[in-house]
Amino acid sequence: MRGMTHPVTDAYLKSCEELQLPSTTDFNGASIEGAGVYDINTRNGLRSHSSAEYLRPALKRANLSIERRAIAQRLVFAPDGRATGVEVLQDGAWRTFSARREVIVSAGAIDTPKLLQLSGLGDSEALGAKGIETRRHLPAVGENLQDHLAASFYYRANRPTLNGVFGSLFGQARLGLQYVLTRKGPFAMSVNQAGGFFRSTPAHERPNIQLYFNPLSYRIPVDASASMVPEPYSGFLIAFNSCRPTSRGRIALASADPAAAALIQPNYLSTDLDIADVIEGSRLVRRIASAPSLAAIIDAEVSPVAIGDQRRKPARLFPRQCQLDLSPLRQLHDGAGCKDIGGGHPASGAWGRRPAHRRRLGLSQCHRRQYQCADHDGCGKGCGDDPRRRGLRT
Ligand SMILES: Cc1cc2nc3c(=O)[nH]c(=O)nc-3n(C[C@H](O)[C@H](O)[C@H](O)COP(=O)(O)OP(=O)(O)OC[C@H]3O[C@@H](n4cnc5c(N)ncnc54)[C@H](O)[C@@H]3O)c2cc1C
Repeated sequence: MRGMTHPVTDAYLKSCEELQLPSTTDFNGASIEGAGVYDINTRNGLRSHSSAEYLRPALKRANLSIERRAIAQRLVFAPDGRATGVEVLQDGAWRTFSARREVIVSAGAIDTPKLLQLSGLGDSEALGAKGIETRRHLPAVGENLQDHLAASFYYRANRPTLNGVFGSLFGQARLGLQYVLTRKGPFAMSVNQAGGFFRSTPAHERPNIQLYFNPLSYRIPVDASASMVPEPYSGFLIAFNSCRPTSRGRIALASADPAAAALIQPNYLSTDLDIADVIEGSRLVRRIASAPSLAAIIDAEVSPVAIGDQRRKPARLFPRQCQLDLSPLRQLHDGAGCKDIGGGHPASGAWGRRPAHRRRLGLSQCHRRQYQCADHDGCGKGCGDDPRRRGLRT
């Protein structure tokens, strides 16, 4: 996105420079620290993704087949406890798939622990309460959920931002045409055009705050089916989240019915460290917004406003509307509850990967694959290029 950023984004980068904050031209380089323009995975102007890059090229392999609309209901086990397959519901019909060698569970941070619990792997008391027979008492399944809670600061600008063009049909048509003809422009970019990784105070040994700069402002609709529309004024937003939140939540079953959504209890801001990150991150955002280049284009902070005494608890620092906006960039990371079955986060000592550990649990054939980047630092470095993602197995 370098060289294509909006002038308001450039003002953000200039503000960081004015504050003598570090800068970087490569978030995947030697150091992640500093302000910069984000890299995105694109090919010929089209946003790329792991399906396009890894799955589709592998479709010609004889040992790969894809089943669509197949919703895993529970794992199947051999009498000795090994996972040998999965039962799915596909277009109203039950089907069982069996594996000769191994079963890889990769249903994401929420549904992986849900599927394990539906399969009888979890806390026996909690499973029993839902009428599920315990196959193995594994109280850690569903625990240890980690999520980056993001807070957004909305600003009214005294000059055009992308709110104007995104907010009008004519503007959208113009950007659409630009994209079709040149594969360039805002439609070829992320809304997070710039951002950075910062230490909110010098006491931190490495960056603890990730910032996102959007040259437009929008709220995440409460109704998930509603589309996002820009705010009805010329504005932009700066959001941030803690890089390594220490609050831990959990994923629990709502019922024994696989169609029921899992209960997500994130326990946001339940540690002093996470509260300190929100307060320090807020101060950092305001410092950047007060530096000459951004201050020159800001009419007002729209929300949150009148924070007042910053020693107060974040829940009281943010007005109700802003609390709703605490999660637009929510990133659910691994953590949801599989730490005791191995295959965990390589960057975290708490996540066992030792085969012996798995053997002890009798689940050697059942792997968990979630967000696993060798150098994942809590945020930032994408998994799109994780070579392990190329190891497609059936
Ligand atoms: C808003 C947001 C922004 C993010 N931004 C970034 C970023 O910039 N960079 C980055 O590296 N990461 C980012 N992440 C994180 C990244 O998207 C995830 O870490 C990653 O997608 C996890 O991959 P996964 O394969 O483990 O799970 P998922 O991508 O969640 O895939 C799980 C799949 O399993 C399917 N599934 C679930 N249950 C069942 C079932 N019972 N039967 C069959 N299929 C099932 C789901 O439909 C889904 O397709 C972001 C996440 C969010 C939410």
